[in-house]
Amino acid sequence: MASEISTSSPPARVAVLVPLALPEPYDYAVPPDLVLAPGDYVVVPLGAQQLIGVVWGAGTDAVERKRLKSVIERLDAPPMPEALRRFVDWVAGYTLAPRGSVLRLAIRAPGALEPPRSRIACRLTDIRPSRMTPARQRVVATAGDGFARSIRELAQEAGVSDGVVRGLVEAGTLAPFEMPAEAPFSLPDAETRGMALGPDQAEAAAALVAAVAADAFSATLLDGVTGSGKTEVYFEAVAEALRRGRQVLILLPEIALTQQFLDRFEQRFGCRPAEWHSDLSTRERARVWRGVAEGRARVVVGARSALFLPFAELGLIIVDEEHESAFKQEDGVAYHARDMAVVRASLGAFPIVLSSATPSLETVVNADQGRYRRLRLEARHGVAEMPQIEAIDMRRDPPERGHWLSPRLVIEMRRALEAGEQAMLFLNRRGYAPLTLCRTCGHRFECPQCSSWLVEHRFRRELACHHCGYTAPVPTSCPACGEEDALVACGPGVERIAEEVATLFPEARAAIVSSDNLRGPAAHRAVFAAIEAREIDIIVGTQIVAKGHHFPWLTLVGVVDADLGLENGDLRAAERTFQLLQQVAGRAGRAERPGRVLLQTWMPEHGVMRALCSGDRDAFLAREAQARERVHLPPFGRLVGVVVASADAELARRTAREMARQVPRTEAVSVLGPAPAPMALLRGRTRLRFLVKAGRNVNVQAFMKAWLGEMKLPGAVRVSVDIDPYSFM
Ligand code: ADP
Ligand code: ZN
Repeated sequence: MASEISTSSPPARVAVLVPLALPEPYDYAVPPDLVLAPGDYVVVPLGAQQLIGVVWGAGTDAVERKRLKSVIERLDAPPMPEALRRFVDWVAGYTLAPRGSVLRLAIRAPGALEPPRSRIACRLTDIRPSRMTPARQRVVATAGDGFARSIRELAQEAGVSDGVVRGLVEAGTLAPFEMPAEAPFSLPDAETRGMALGPDQAEAAAALVAAVAADAFSATLLDGVTGSGKTEVYFEAVAEALRRGRQVLILLPEIALTQQFLDRFEQRFGCRPAEWHSDLSTRERARVWRGVAEGRARVVVGARSALFLPFAELGLIIVDEEHESAFKQEDGVAYHARDMAVVRASLGAFPIVLSSATPSLETVVNADQGRYRRLRLEARHGVAEMPQIEAIDMRRDPPERGHWLSPRLVIEMRRALEAGEQAMLFLNRRGYAPLTLCRTCGHRFECPQCSSWLVEHRFRRELACHHCGYTAPVPTSCPACGEEDALVACGPGVERIAEEVATLFPEARAAIVSSDNLRGPAAHRAVFAAIEAREIDIIVGTQIVAKGHHFPWLTLVGVVDADLGLENGDLRAAERTFQLLQQVAGRAGRAERPGRVLLQTWMPEHGVMRALCSGDRDAFLAREAQARERVHLPPFGRLVGVVVASADAELARRTAREMARQVPRTEAVSVLGPAPAPMALLRGRTRLRFLVKAGRNVNVQAFMKAWLGEMKLPGAVRVSVDIDPYSFM
């Protein structure tokens, strides 16, 4: 473009995408003193607000020039890489989410686009306040480790208000000082020696290193039993990518992003990776986001949203525990991080590794059909053997009335404890009892806002809804018939199992490991450290103990209710139950001592129990695949879930009926519903569902647009579309 400045020449215009639920970018005029290119972060006016947006391309001339508003300023940050912009477009096109909503995932790091400021931190002095309260005591104890923290961070960590901390600053107990703007990122060292790999491991590692060296898209399934050394193996691929000057993303389900994992990374690469998960402070998010954009953070270990970080030189993605349903985001932009990671690798022309001991059927089918390469690790590393898995037939060995542990399981627990080993009881149910009812009138305690029973939490003395968070104190009399002391708890949760353990093994040190019993990462770290240090004999846990932890002294795993996950009959119930129980089983016997796993089940003849006990995973998956192929379910067909929800029940039903009338007629697609959703009421909203079924090669996005694209919906109704749904509630 000519540099001549003429008052009559039209101002250049650009299309700017803003992080709001809008499908398209808007045009803005470029002020004469500004030069903008695609990817630039800019501030633009929208209505009465000013928003940060991204220049998406040239303007479209759709808006008259004189009505065009101007870009306010360009922000000083590396432009959003083209690969990420194309990825945002792709994800929006696939999930049918507004493009602006997808963009929001990529710039959800408040403050990252402002220059980092230095900040005030405080440090403990020798002065103690004249009046010591329990809250002040907690602050002093927290600050006692010598780490510098801001007032806010210190207050959060100690669980007190900012005012308590400020009071201690005034009293001189804490001394404020200025901290450097940002901690730098350490550079992982690819040349630190890894472990000497066994022959199978070395072969798999060489294949992954070759994939990185090929500098092109490829997808590899790293399929190996728990403990076979998959992490060690993919670390070799990480090292190769680092040697080639590329950034690396390791995606983990949030709950597997443990201290242990970070320690292992540090052992291999000499420093901590950058972390990205929901627990980061705003400040840390900004630091990591900027470090990634500027290429200073070389390796990010993160939960699913890390996929949208603005990597400048991304060259490898690892998806660990690729089968985990936690990779599927249900709210807002409904995307599957594993599937979208494959897309990102393909758009960026670099390799991706999917790692699992129990790969998803989707991935297994992709490997079988040759779209993904498959590397297998058949044995556990070193002397550790796979645990022996047995079913306890609860029809033949039932527990005593009012108890939940079969005598056989109790005998095995006793044996483990006597040998100085640890036992774990697994039950994927929080709280004390999943249902409370009145013995006299049969009244059941239900959430007033959801179709779900209230779960009793005995430690907190309350009834809680696990869907919306509603809580109420446990009453002493029945609210329906008024009878005193007539309420009974039905069924067990982890708290109830712990109670049974306490009566059976009064000497043993037991701990409940569930999200309600452990608040915050520090509590998690503490309990896992105590288990490793053998300060705990019996662990009673929900799924948070199932993943990623390695406890050398844990030799017995008892699954309290192996049938639990099979109750909800969705299409992946069997697959998921198998995966979860296999993962839980994998906690046993990870070192010299062999492990045993006992599954309490009322249906030992079920395919899932048989597959677990015989260890014949591949046969199980093959049967699952056949069953789904017969009825054209994923991955052999496509599904779209549509939920219509409104606080106005009649309006929700009327809208759903109207939607049903507008379904485009086509042979290739069938639309089932509307039907009341299994969660027919959630947070006070009435919900109805449609399920769209189509062949694998049908463009369901085009179908959905033809169906719903032009439809006018009442404002009080929300219609959410979930391509490839994992939840059918
Ligand atoms: P996976 O990821 O397949 O579950 P890990 O990589 O966690 O397996 O390995 C399981 C355990 O075996 C870890 O404690 C790991 O350090 C150890 N291990 C794996 N491979 C080796 C090796 N080649 N040499 C020494 N220890 C190893
Ligand atoms: Zn509720």
